[in-house]
Amino acid sequence: MDFTLTEDQKMLRTMVRDFAEQELLPVAREDDRSGYYRPEIIRKMASLGLVAGLLPPEYGGSGLDNVSHAILVEEIGRVNFAYVVSIFMVQVCLVELTILNWGTREQKEKYLPRLATGELLGCFGAVEPNVGSDASAVETTALLDKDEWVLSGSKTWITNASVADIAIILARTDTNKGRGKLTTFLVETKTPGFTAREIEGKMGIRAANTAEVSLDYCCVPKENVVGEVGHGLKVALSAIDNARFTMGAGCVGIAQACIDASVKYAQERQQFKRPIGQFQLIQEMIADMITETEAARYLVYRVGYLRDKGLPYSRETAIAKYYASKVAMQAADRAIQIHGGYGYSDEFPVERYYRDARVAPLFAGTNEIQKLIIAQHALGLSAIT
Ligand SMILES: Cc1cc2nc3c(=O)[nH]c(=O)nc-3n(C[C@H](O)[C@H](O)[C@H](O)COP(=O)(O)OP(=O)(O)OC[C@H]3O[C@@H](n4cnc5c(N)ncnc54)[C@H](O)[C@@H]3O)c2cc1C
Repeated sequence: MDFTLTEDQKMLRTMVRDFAEQELLPVAREDDRSGYYRPEIIRKMASLGLVAGLLPPEYGGSGLDNVSHAILVEEIGRVNFAYVVSIFMVQVCLVELTILNWGTREQKEKYLPRLATGELLGCFGAVEPNVGSDASAVETTALLDKDEWVLSGSKTWITNASVADIAIILARTDTNKGRGKLTTFLVETKTPGFTAREIEGKMGIRAANTAEVSLDYCCVPKENVVGEVGHGLKVALSAIDNARFTMGAGCVGIAQACIDASVKYAQERQQFKRPIGQFQLIQEMIADMITETEAARYLVYRVGYLRDKGLPYSRETAIAKYYASKVAMQAADRAIQIHGGYGYSDEFPVERYYRDARVAPLFAGTNEIQKLIIAQHALGLSAIT
């Protein structure tokens, strides 16, 4: 495995970093304070080809390799993690890649080019008030009535839901409980019966929209099934695997932002008549942050490499997401410590990194679920099936 970046990858990093610093950084604190989601950001990113990098050119994408995707996501995460979640995890991984990998030709032609330009925004609803880690227990039902599926139920914690145009929804198509009885649907959110209500008071990623969804006899045409009827769990789990890879890359971005802020602060802040960066206890924190972040970055790149080679990557994705999310949280904690009292205020960004990083062990499969996956590969024994 060669981790030397190509010239194209280096150019992509520079381009995305410039974009993030010019467009996302100036509004990051304001949007975090107000909880404002900026719809124009996705269109600006789309105009640079960032929102559909992983799609093939025939659907408006640029056929980016997966290591480049990780680089792109890291740079966005370095500035504002809310956009990693709403755009790269949800729009790209949970919506675009799900339609690309499982959708019909008609679904791909109808939706992918418009998702690629940011004209359409998507969301993905698996989780429900009573159903989280155990996606096989989904209670939302879909019953076939002539040429339509009638969806009823509710979803919660759905990123983008109250601003999305389309939703990928996991529902039960057989009222008998069982793992093989779920199906994934593509639902246009203007369909009567689909309503979303924003969740307020989130700890972090406040500039990302998060909502509860109610499906009240919401009728979906038969041709909007994504993948095969009864294979919805497989579709959903593969989508979440894609999102998990992206979560790992975004966490590397947060951790790098913590290093950058801490190094600058430790060089400038004087105590005992010298920069605090001269104190070995501060140096230790910075050395640990750098070592752990580099390890997390290469675990994420390894997943990109495996995906590009068409090799299995589920175990490696679980390892990368589990480790990178821990590293991001620890880095944010240390960055606040290095900033002293100033780190506790939003005058500096490190308290936002701390709150934003905290979602990472919860989303795209909790870290407990990642550990079960990793251990299952070693033991050949599953804790959950
Ligand atoms: C900001 C935010 C955005 C989100 N966006 C989306 C989205 O767009 N779409 C979507 O579908 N979901 C989304 N989610 C939901 C997220 O995926 C769930 O929160 C997550 O899957 C966990 O489910 P839960 O919250 O119901 O927790 P539970 O599954 O109830 O878990 C509670 C605790 O028990 C642990 N646990 C559960 N089962 C086991 C086990 N077998 N062994 C050991 N420990 C276990 C968990 O790890 C956790 O610590 C979002 C969540 C947040 C916070």
